[in-house]
Amino acid sequence: MTDKAPFRSDLTGSFSTPSGNNPTVAMIEAGYRDAGMKARFINCDVKPEALGDAVRGARAMGWVGFNCSLPHKVAVLEHLDELAESAAIIGAVNCVQIRDGKLIGNNTDGKGFLTSLRSVSDPKGKRIVLFGAGGAARAIAVELGLAGAAEITVVNRDEGKARTVAGLVSEHTGAEGKAVGWSGKAKVPEGTDIVINATSIGLGDAEALPEIDLETLRPGQIVADVIMNPPMTHLLREAKGRGCTVLDGLGMLVNQGIVGVELWFGRTLDAGVMQETLKGIFKVS
Ligand code: NDP
Repeated sequence: MTDKAPFRSDLTGSFSTPSGNNPTVAMIEAGYRDAGMKARFINCDVKPEALGDAVRGARAMGWVGFNCSLPHKVAVLEHLDELAESAAIIGAVNCVQIRDGKLIGNNTDGKGFLTSLRSVSDPKGKRIVLFGAGGAARAIAVELGLAGAAEITVVNRDEGKARTVAGLVSEHTGAEGKAVGWSGKAKVPEGTDIVINATSIGLGDAEALPEIDLETLRPGQIVADVIMNPPMTHLLREAKGRGCTVLDGLGMLVNQGIVGVELWFGRTLDAGVMQETLKGIFKVS
């Protein structure tokens, strides 16, 4: 088929601030190049007061879609026409499709995690302990609930936030959500299938360790971390040493990108190419 617009690219990108250290652009553009797509991903620094103009600009210029990162994940809702199911439950959007001028909000944070998890196990019927109750934890909890998890226990320093996330799970998904306050060394209950660190502990610090009683981890359990840099966190090293199956945050980030591009173009980029690009950036062997 001949290209009817050989000198025009399909535009996508990201709106956030600060934006200069977000490596998503490098990962996605490597995927586009590898797939031979005539698409671009533009990393834009958008201040809170300019978000509406940026969204209208993307629609006016015929962008295919865009990501929203901090601080726009909630503020963008008022500019959208529709919300996907999980984004409506989570109450935050990080990926927008523009279809026939309509703006549809999605949340790919939890979906990226889920895709990564499914490479080792199906969450259906599983008992899960989730540390953290911020934006990443909320998205992960809702997606795991919608994917058929049996029970999700949310453990957080601020117990009120844990209750909010557990409440969303119980109210909107088939899973049972439980909330636990986190003080001192948290024990992982017997019978837990999957343990997830969705706090920011470990970001940029390979020695930082969430206060978890490591003796309560069991061989064969899945232990996942959302931290993408460094990917092999202290928690994952300890879990691996105890015979657990470990999942790093790099997989979640790559799969978020893949899910976003599938929403925009209906095409699946090569995870290996994107992973290698990030490893090069994070200097991981
Ligand atoms: P938030 O700020 O919304 O939430 C941070 C969470 O970490 C809260 O639950 C907070 O607890 C907890 N926390 C922070 N410090 C401590 C501590 N010292 N002890 C116990 N709990 C602590 O951040 P996000 O949810 O947006 O992001 C969390 C992490 O996930 C970040 O590091 C981010 O980089 C990463 N992430 C990774 C992605 C990926 O693709 N791999 C995607 C999205 C995020 P409290 O509520 O009590 O303050």
